[in-house]
Amino acid sequence: MSDALSVKSSSKSVRSLKDKLRSTFGRKSVDDTNVPRRKSSTGENVPQGRKSSQGASIDSRQDSIQVVAFKTQAERIREARETGPKIDKQTGELLDGTTMLHSLAHDSFDTVTEILNKYELDLNRPPGEAQIASLSPQLWSQITEHISLVDRACLALASKTLMDRVGSSCLATINHPENTAYRLAFLHRLEDKLPNHLFCFVCNKYHLRTMKGEEKLRPASVLNPLFNCPNATNNLMPQPRLRITTGRTLPFNFVQLALKGKKYGLDYGIDATTMARLWREQHEPRWIHSTRYFVFKGRLLMRVQSTCFTKAGLTPAGERMLLYSREDYLPYFSACAHWRDGLLMNICKCALSHLPVPPEKSLQEGLAKVAGRRPSQGAIIILCSNCRPMRRCPSCPTEYLVEVKLAEDRSEKDPTKLFKHAIVVTRWSDLGDGSSPETPEWAAVTGAKDDYDSLSSIGTRAISGTFESQSADTGPGQRILNLNPKDEHKGEEGHDWY
Ligand SMILES: [Zn+2]
Ligand SMILES: [Zn+2]
Ligand SMILES: [Zn+2]
Repeated sequence: MSDALSVKSSSKSVRSLKDKLRSTFGRKSVDDTNVPRRKSSTGENVPQGRKSSQGASIDSRQDSIQVVAFKTQAERIREARETGPKIDKQTGELLDGTTMLHSLAHDSFDTVTEILNKYELDLNRPPGEAQIASLSPQLWSQITEHISLVDRACLALASKTLMDRVGSSCLATINHPENTAYRLAFLHRLEDKLPNHLFCFVCNKYHLRTMKGEEKLRPASVLNPLFNCPNATNNLMPQPRLRITTGRTLPFNFVQLALKGKKYGLDYGIDATTMARLWREQHEPRWIHSTRYFVFKGRLLMRVQSTCFTKAGLTPAGERMLLYSREDYLPYFSACAHWRDGLLMNICKCALSHLPVPPEKSLQEGLAKVAGRRPSQGAIIILCSNCRPMRRCPSCPTEYLVEVKLAEDRSEKDPTKLFKHAIVVTRWSDLGDGSSPETPEWAAVTGAKDDYDSLSSIGTRAISGTFESQSADTGPGQRILNLNPKDEHKGEEGHDWY
């Protein structure tokens, strides 16, 4: 009787251990057949179809399964690194074709991070308040000496006991007007808790979103407040924004919204694709612009394509009328802050010079008519080695492609003249991760930062290639050259651009 009781109690304890393991690891690592087989050694409840002679081998197998369940976190991480997807050390590409195809179907994930997230967030972990309180404030002050001010403030806010031990002086330090960068970094960590707020970089605080879910990108001339900001009418402290073309800007708040929408869901922001716009300039030469946005690896990429119908054989003055806006004396198409320094305007003029000049209305046309052929329209225009390659601005993450091609003019009434020659300037820019206007990409594109080296920062993977590969369109296959190979920074002084 006492034997039976002891067997029962041991089976109970095994079962409770099994339940514990299940709740911890969330899978059937501990087999159900474990208990009956243990009993089989005592001569009871041998499962049908299994003989006790098999017991030893089965038991040893179960031991190995249990060992798997009891692996430490460090072992798991090491195993994930070893057995995880094999990556080419040179190119960073997945070597296994199947894994690569699967990873294309999902958002990118990091196996190690996933494991960390899974096992760090243990809801059944007992509270550690007593352990925290057992260390003296002196010891805590020594511990917090090794972490940053922002981390110290976060630690102090984690619980009442920690606030008591770490102290609230770090919060006062962060609030000091001289520590705006720390304050920004600290407040940025609350981002995922505040879906109804947007950070205002002018006031350095969160404002309530007044247009939540209805935020729409509008022309610069239209008032479009996203929150009630006391500095909204203060011309000395404007909201950070990027000029796209004449009369069109991209406020930084929209970069924030697009990236938050992607990171935390649409409750926190907007879908980047809804920011795409197509518009035509009011005045001659009536450039047509189309913008598209796309979030890639936590950064917002922008593409602006500007098209203008043109004729061959323009005079230098005609070229300037075509390329420069008389409103703000900047190019009609979208350009980064460094457009004057490099070859951009010369490349546009070079591309225009390759337009075929229509033959004199004389012998050639007559001969063509006689032969029953139409005179050549110059459907394919071949650009030279100077203006054909794509160019990357060395001072910011922006790439340009200038093309001259036949395009359909939908506003043309005469069906025989539907296709016309047009200059198309496409610009791709990386606008950064939206955490602050001080992020290197945004600061470089807007011209606020002059030590950005795009050639080393971006590396071999082009922004244009990344952008175009997400759509069905085939990417532009051109090689990429430096927009400013002589590294001249004359700006307004150099007259070459005009
Ligand atoms: Zn504000
Ligand atoms: Zn050329
Ligand atoms: Zn630039």
